[in-house]
Amino acid sequence: MTTLAFLGLGAMGDPMAAHLARYAAANGLTAHVWNRTDSKAQAHARTHGSRAVTLETAAGADVIFTCLPTSAEVNEVLSVMEPHLKSGAVWVDCTSGHPQAAPAQRERLAARGVTLLDAPVSGGTAGAQAGALTVMVGGPAEALEAVRPHLAFAGKVVHVGQSGAGFAVKAVNNALLGVTLWATGEGLAVLARAGVDLGAALDVINASSGRSNASQNLIGQRVLTREFPATFALGLLAKDAGIAADLTGEVRGSAPLLAQTAALLRAAERVVGADEDHTAALKLIEQMNDVELK
Ligand code: NDP
Repeated sequence: MTTLAFLGLGAMGDPMAAHLARYAAANGLTAHVWNRTDSKAQAHARTHGSRAVTLETAAGADVIFTCLPTSAEVNEVLSVMEPHLKSGAVWVDCTSGHPQAAPAQRERLAARGVTLLDAPVSGGTAGAQAGALTVMVGGPAEALEAVRPHLAFAGKVVHVGQSGAGFAVKAVNNALLGVTLWATGEGLAVLARAGVDLGAALDVINASSGRSNASQNLIGQRVLTREFPATFALGLLAKDAGIAADLTGEVRGSAPLLAQTAALLRAAERVVGADEDHTAALKLIEQMNDVELK
């Protein structure tokens, strides 16, 4: 019987694994879950009918999903699981990982007969709960076709190229999120200092050419309300923008705006806090301008 294992039941992984468990139950498959803090895995099993297992047991699955903070944590669990992996399995890494980590991971897994797909996701916790995530996949197309039916948390799946390409696209996507979030925050801070009502300004921007996801959704819902709900950590966005900056160096590209945004987000992470919601980066802009965006 095909066994699916999901490792990392965080803000994203928990609802993604819930979709996997439902899909497994409907198709006569087994869904294993593992989490560093075991109580979350036990709660997942109770709520969603998955089975909480050890890392060694999870390693025996036919398809292994990971959704951990960075490639460093993926390497940690890989080290424990390596001797127990099943030849012919596919490892689908949904972490927003680092393209430079992919080659070594791929080789370690290939030595055990396991194929790696980098498959980071976009759509936030709301997308994960709805099972409507966009998945950007790097690695062998045949391996993607083999696991495609199991991507129960996906709304859209795009094969973007060879191993590491998924991580690269995700890093650039999130760097663009950082650019628009930061730039819109700067613009609104200037308007606040000019005495303009920010609700009215955002209304105009969202019907004009300056609009973005940051202006249409994030800033209105999270910043102007002063709610900053922590669904995607500022530390993780700073990490992603940093990966895009690293990638620029690796390919000897020229992307000064992306590099600057990575540096600004890193500064905001230090000042505001890594665990705050990513939109709280704008609190640094508020300090720089002595205004509150509300
Ligand atoms: P969370 O911080 O909510 O969850 C992190 C998960 O990783 C938890 O299960 C945590 O376990 C586990 N973990 C942390 N450190 C280790 C370790 N050393 N060894 C094993 N497990 C560990 O993160 P998210 O779910 O928000 O993000 C996961 C990935 O998805 C990241 O790469 C992020 O960039 C990406 N992402 C996040 C989005 C979002 O909106 N949140 C959207 C799209 C992508 P424990 O419970 O024990 O702490």
